[in-house]
Parts: sequence; C-alpha cells; structure tokens
Amino acid sequence: MNEQFDVVILGGGLAGLLLSLQLKQQKPDIKLLVLEKREGKAPETAFKIGESSVELGTHYMREVLGLKGYLDANQLPKNGQRFFMSPKHKNEIHKRVELGPRIKLPVPSHQIDRGIFENDLIDMTRDLGNEFLLGTKVTDVEIGKENHTVSYTKDGEKQTVNTRWVVDATGRSSFMKKKLGFAEAFPHDVSSSWFRVDHKIDVDTWSDDPKFQSQIQRDLRYLSTVHLMDTGYWVWIIPLVGGRTSVGIVADQSIHPFDTYNTLEKTLEWIDKNEPQLGRELKPLRGKIMDFMVMKHFAYASKETYNTDRWTVVGEAGLFGDPFYSPGIDFITLANTFTGDLILRDLGGEDVMFRTKFYATLIRALYDNWMPLYQNQYPLWGRSQVMVTKIFWDWGAYWSINTLLFVNKGLTDIELMRAVVTGPTSFIQRYGELSAQMQRLFKAWGPYDTADHTDKYADPFDLPYLRKFQEDIVEKQYPKDELATKLFENLEILEKVAAEIFRLVSNQALGTPIDMAVDPYTMSLTGEKRESVNSKLLERDAEIAKQLKPMWLYPYPAEVAV
Ligand SMILES: Cc1cc2nc3c(=O)[nH]c(=O)nc-3n(C[C@H](O)[C@H](O)[C@H](O)COP(=O)(O)OP(=O)(O)OC[C@H]3O[C@@H](n4cnc5c(N)ncnc54)[C@H](O)[C@@H]3O)c2cc1C
Repeated sequence: MNEQFDVVILGGGLAGLLLSLQLKQQKPDIKLLVLEKREGKAPETAFKIGESSVELGTHYMREVLGLKGYLDANQLPKNGQRFFMSPKHKNEIHKRVELGPRIKLPVPSHQIDRGIFENDLIDMTRDLGNEFLLGTKVTDVEIGKENHTVSYTKDGEKQTVNTRWVVDATGRSSFMKKKLGFAEAFPHDVSSSWFRVDHKIDVDTWSDDPKFQSQIQRDLRYLSTVHLMDTGYWVWIIPLVGGRTSVGIVADQSIHPFDTYNTLEKTLEWIDKNEPQLGRELKPLRGKIMDFMVMKHFAYASKETYNTDRWTVVGEAGLFGDPFYSPGIDFITLANTFTGDLILRDLGGEDVMFRTKFYATLIRALYDNWMPLYQNQYPLWGRSQVMVTKIFWDWGAYWSINTLLFVNKGLTDIELMRAVVTGPTSFIQRYGELSAQMQRLFKAWGPYDTADHTDKYADPFDLPYLRKFQEDIVEKQYPKDELATKLFENLEILEKVAAEIFRLVSNQALGTPIDMAVDPYTMSLTGEKRESVNSKLLERDAEIAKQLKPMWLYPYPAEVAV
C-alpha cells in the first residue's frame, strides 16, 4: 500500500522549498513530501541564478515565512537596484547618468547566494517536520479522482506515493508541462550568459572623481544590484556573501545575437567591447572565475497554472518573463500564495473550484500586464532619459499597486478582488490600460531621446510620491475596507503622473505646450487616435509637476512655474 500525503512537491528548488515552509507553518499537521533529484548538497555561489530579491518577494520571505532573522544573518542586505546609463561614457563611470537610492532603503531586500540558501532551507523544512528527499527523480504523476499517484526513483528503485495535491516545482524541467503538453511559447527573444567570480567587484572604486565619491555613502553602491546599460542589453553585477560577485549579460537577440556571448571567452570579449570598465576589472580575475552558464530565449508562458483536479505549477515550472527588475522571486511568491491558499482551503473541506479558476486567470493577467515592460523595449536600454522615466514609472506602479495588494493580503481576498476586477471601467482595467499606454509612450519616445546626458544622478526618493509609495509597503497594514480606497487613490496619482510625463515628453520631442490638458488613456506621441471608456482629461497638477522635476535630465521647460 502506498504511503499517503496531503501534498507532494515535485522539485526542491527555491519555489518548492519556500512552499514547503509556508504550508507547514500555516498547517503544522500537514503531511508533505518534497522530491528533489539532486543527490547531495548544492555548491555554494556557483549554483543557480536568481540571486537578487525585490520588495514583494522579500516581504514574503521575511514577513510571511519569518526568514527575517535568517536573511539578515546569512545573506547580504541589498540596497535596491542601480542603473548606469549614458553609454557614451562607458569608460568613465562618474560621467554616466546614475539612477539609484542615495540612502539606505526603508524596505529591505537581499542579495542571495542560492547554494547556501537552498541548503539552509532544506534543513529548515526538515526541522519543521516535512519529508525532503534528495536523490529522488520524479518519473510519473497519475492524476486521480480522490488521490494522485506520484512515481519516483531512489537509488535506482521505483517508488510510489499517493497524494491529494501535486505541486510541480521542477523549474525549467517543467515536469507537468511536458507530461500534459501545456507549454506556451512567449514572443520575447532575450537571452543571457553569466558567471560568478571569487572576488569583490565594487563600482565605487572605478572612479576617484570627488563628486562621484561623495554622492553616496560607501558600500551602498556595492550592495545594490548594478545594471550597466546600453541599447539592447544590460549587464548585472551582484555582490554575494564571502566577497564573491555574480556577473551576467542579458541581451535582445535582434541587437546582440546570442552567439556573440555564448561561451566564456566570447562573454569576456563581449564585455571588453561593450562595457570596457568592467572588462578591465575582469582582466586580472580570469583565474578566479568559478562557473559559466548560458540560457537562450528564457521567456515562456504556460497554458495551465492552477488546475481544478488539485494540481498546480509554481516557479519556473510555470511562467517566466525577464530578470530585469528581478521579479523571479515575486512570481514564486504569487504562485506559492495562490497554491497554498487553495491547498489549505481544500484540506479544510472548502470547495475551491471557483478560486482555482480565479487565481489561474489572475496570475495570467499579472504576467500579461508585466511583460509589456520588456517586450520590444530593449532598444530603449541605451536612452538615458527614457530609462530614468520608465524605471521610475515601473517602480511606482509596482510599489503602489502590485506590492501594496500583496503585502495587505488583497490578492487572496476574493471579495476585494471581485470589486476591483469587474467591468471595463474597473480598477484593474484602468490600471492595465494605463500601464499599456505608458509602455507605448516610452517606445514611441525612444528615437527622440538622443541627447548625451552626462554626469547626472537620479534618486527615486527625490520624488516624494515615489518615496511614499515605497514607505507605504512597510509602514502600514491597511484594513480590508481601506485597501480598496488606497488602491484607487494610488491609481489617481499614477494617472496624474502619466499625464505629466506625457507633457514633458511631448514638449521635448514635439515642442507641444507644457501646460496642455492630457488624457492619460488616449494620449499618443505618434498621433494615433485612441479611444477609451476610462478617458479623462487632466489639467496640469502643479504639485505632481514639482515632484517629477528631479527626474528630468533635459533643461526643464523654462516657462513652467511649479
Ligand atoms: C538570467 C536570469 C537571471 C535571473 N535573476 C533573478 C534575480 O536576480 N532575482 C530573482 O528573483 N529571480 C531571478 N531569476 C529567476 C530565478 O532564477 C527563478 O525564479 C528561480 O530560480 C526559479 O526557481 P524554481 O524553484 O522554480 O526552479 P529551480 O531552482 O530550478 O528548482 C527546480 C528544482 O527541481 C528539481 N527537479 C527538476 N526535475 C525534477 C524531477 N524530475 N524530479 C525531482 N526533482 C526535479 C531540480 O533539481 C531543481 O532543484 C533569473 C532568471 C534568469 C533566467
């Protein structure tokens, strides 16, 4: 007779491990098994990619799973994301436009060594009482009415267990997708190569320029995820514990073909050519390179996520988009949150049919709303003013809506979600339309932003509304009835911000008056006529205009008194 479990998680990588902690913490008597094919301990540093966390996923790990103490003690704190633009000054970092916080951020995040983290998470999940088996390769899943049967091999022998729920967390192996054929390609042709080096790479040391040195407290640059950017690519520099560093290229295939950086030799040559300051830094470090990996065309969607037959996919076994803005752990968080909620309700005797379908629609909507941030946008990566504006916009939307909803448990509050998703003028519809409008605007603006912006610093916290959006994530938990109001208030701020950005952009690109009224739902730089049920004409808001001024690298339109 097969042993019976409540949940079997296929794959014990980051998504599976975090879900195992979540379920056990929320239901201590749950009977849970994790099957992981790796035989032994994960190597430190030179293991998997996915090292940088951002606000939403960090909240999940620190607050929901209680890993705050562990992360503070064992992984590096992260000081946000930092971007170096102005590609004309690639040899002199202090002349590049720098975007990033000058201060230590109020909302914590981390730079994570994945080998150390996954090894420690295995100990934690076992300590809680979960069964975690290494060296077990899942070979089959049979979906049944009351129970599913999972087959795996251990020490060359076939074993079988029964379970009410199956969660596929097998990452890019995507076990269920392959078995049931629900893979879905996604048209975003971006690829990557990366390596870890046993050396501390600190961009702070790349220039003695007094202004560059005094602009920001020592180590805050080092602790950021550094992005070096130009048309069609970004290069990451991520610090890891033990003075090691992760370095990677992410590039659009149509601008930087994969075969120009798909070996270590070619990657180093590519860096020499495209990011010479980093290239010089790496020259003496060849002997300290610890690993090298590549991933071609890494984006994909998934036709299935949460199935009413009591199985789900989480992490990279489901959807993956793009690592720009580091949303990988965020998507793990969302999938684990939905999956955990379904499992616990079902084990408690509740019918979860509606919720399952609802969460499947919701995660797909979140993915579809997120992907336009990247799709066909890589040509803009070399445009400094477009990128400063876009990054501030994207962060504002992410903090004030997505993250706020998650940290206040809004995404699993069906009553609230129904209220915000229903109808063409619903909150979600407006938010989706506004986001799409802004990504279209950035794309159309690209060719006009040709100035050589030099030696400028853009700090998100110089924009008070943006600072408030970030602080709101940690400072207050909103009661149910206040959350919807807060979301609508934030959306109204975003609408005004969108309209003001359009005024600035259109003034710079086409010379239109800076004080014109703008409809954020129909505005267009190309003259394309758009219609929207959410259409609203907004007069200039002096306060928002004032708040946005610090992000403007061009001479600020003289006639404006704000
Ligand atoms: C270039 C790049 C950069 C990235 N950077 C970031 C970043 O900075 N921050 C971020 O948050 N995310 C980042 N990501 C995303 C991040 O890597 C993923 O979100 C994360 O690693 C996915 O974790 P997972 O648990 O789904 O998969 P994995 O960590 O791959 O785990 C899957 C596990 O399943 C096991 N397995 C597979 N098949 C079987 C089987 N048949 N039986 C048993 N076990 C099996 C594997 O051994 C593995 O341990 C990046 C992704 C890319 C491509």
